[in-house]
Amino acid sequence: MKTISKIFIAAFLFVGFVSISQTKPQALSKINTEGFQKSQVMSLITDLSDVYGPRLAGTNQYYTAAEWAKKTLESWGVDKAYFEKYCDDCMGWEVKSFNVEMIAPAYMKIQAYPYAWTESSNGVQTGDMIWIENHDDLDKVKKQWSGKLQGKTILMGSAPEQNMLFDPLSTRYTQDQIEEAKKSIVPAPSKPLGWSTGNVDLVEDLEVNFQSLKTKDDAFFAFLKAEGALSILGTSPFFPGIVHPSGTYNYRERDVKPIPYFAISPENFGKLKRLTDRGISPKIKFNLETELYLKPENNVNIIAEITGSDPKLKDEVVMIGAHFDSWHAASGATDNGAGSAVMMEVMRIIKVSGLKPKRTIRIALWGGEEQAVVGSLAYAEKHYGKLKETTRKKEVELISAYINMDNGAGQMRGIYLQGNEAVRPIFQEMLEPYSYLDVNNLTVQNTNYTDHDVFDYYKIPGFQIIQDPLNYNTVMHHTNLDVLEYVPERDMMVNATVIAALVYQIAERDSRLPREE
Ligand SMILES: [Zn+2]
Repeated sequence: MKTISKIFIAAFLFVGFVSISQTKPQALSKINTEGFQKSQVMSLITDLSDVYGPRLAGTNQYYTAAEWAKKTLESWGVDKAYFEKYCDDCMGWEVKSFNVEMIAPAYMKIQAYPYAWTESSNGVQTGDMIWIENHDDLDKVKKQWSGKLQGKTILMGSAPEQNMLFDPLSTRYTQDQIEEAKKSIVPAPSKPLGWSTGNVDLVEDLEVNFQSLKTKDDAFFAFLKAEGALSILGTSPFFPGIVHPSGTYNYRERDVKPIPYFAISPENFGKLKRLTDRGISPKIKFNLETELYLKPENNVNIIAEITGSDPKLKDEVVMIGAHFDSWHAASGATDNGAGSAVMMEVMRIIKVSGLKPKRTIRIALWGGEEQAVVGSLAYAEKHYGKLKETTRKKEVELISAYINMDNGAGQMRGIYLQGNEAVRPIFQEMLEPYSYLDVNNLTVQNTNYTDHDVFDYYKIPGFQIIQDPLNYNTVMHHTNLDVLEYVPERDMMVNATVIAALVYQIAERDSRLPREE
């Protein structure tokens, strides 16, 4: 009897142990079933883009979307979901109504969208248009144009070169491109696969590059305003008919572009420019009604957690993230609704499949990424220490990894290792079960210009996913066509499921991921 009861107890303990600690194939099979067969990722991105887009930082729309995200995460039973404020003086700005037309020498509806944080027009305005190509030498511009700009609309910059659209608008990375990236031996090669600042560090990038970008037109715009000009039309080489109102950074308190400023399509710009070349001055009629406000309570990062199950390891955290804000001319479906929906779905998959990861898994949906990562930077300064000081808080040591997604809606093809070679064999093994999806390509290369940069700067292993470009750089990025039509379902499902499997495995490891020296 005694022996039998011992066997019984031993068997019971064994079964009990197995039932809480899944083998890796068991866990991945649960993740795959949830992610591939019961996916909700397209429902999430449809809400995010069609109902809760656009999500320009600082706006009421952004905050309403943030509340939806928090509620949605809570509905899956995550252990914590909360907001953290990131900016006290970041302004909200909304378009209420606008229209831009050429009314002479003939009628032409102009494909346009106002740049963010630009002033209203005071009703409908009409005036002749003139062309000013370059304002780098402001003294020269002043000499030429002083006293001649009253009531004028300014066509600003050079016309994009003709584009016959022979190249495909949408592409996936070719095997050659992927192989070349895999063979990289330095983080900043001369021809990187993704968007890279090379070896420029974050502080320098923010203080020098971003600051000059932010203020580059200020003096010129102030001159135009003082001279009584009516509005400005600019463009970017996004064909066909695409409008790209990207890159105005007057988001801090009351720092608004002083006159109405529109992005117009390259083809409309081309025609207006050619008319002026022929000595014909087009007459432009427009109106722009916008609203500018300061509501610091709108400026929140959205944070949620699944608490770890291991008493010792649960204080350590595996973080995933994506920026939640967008530009304003479309739904922000791929930049970065797609990344946000994928990371939310990762949380759902892990929670709903009943897995109990040892470490805590935390999602952060950032605000203000488009304004030089202001949301993730505020988070890091609060939790890890001031950017420019060398002392770091203890919390830095508790973050095992940060995985970011922000390169559109294209399928995951692998991971930028951001110079962290020690992680290569670990990720190789973790992604091996998904090699049939071609998602397991690793490159030592850096990629930059999004929130993982901040974590990398704090020496937390921070990574960005390699994604097929699709039409991100040719059609979508910060344009009026960043919409749900260009979000492929299969790519989204693969991304969420594979990242869930990766994050789960990082949370289960005996030790944290290795740090860069
Ligand atoms: Zn983005």
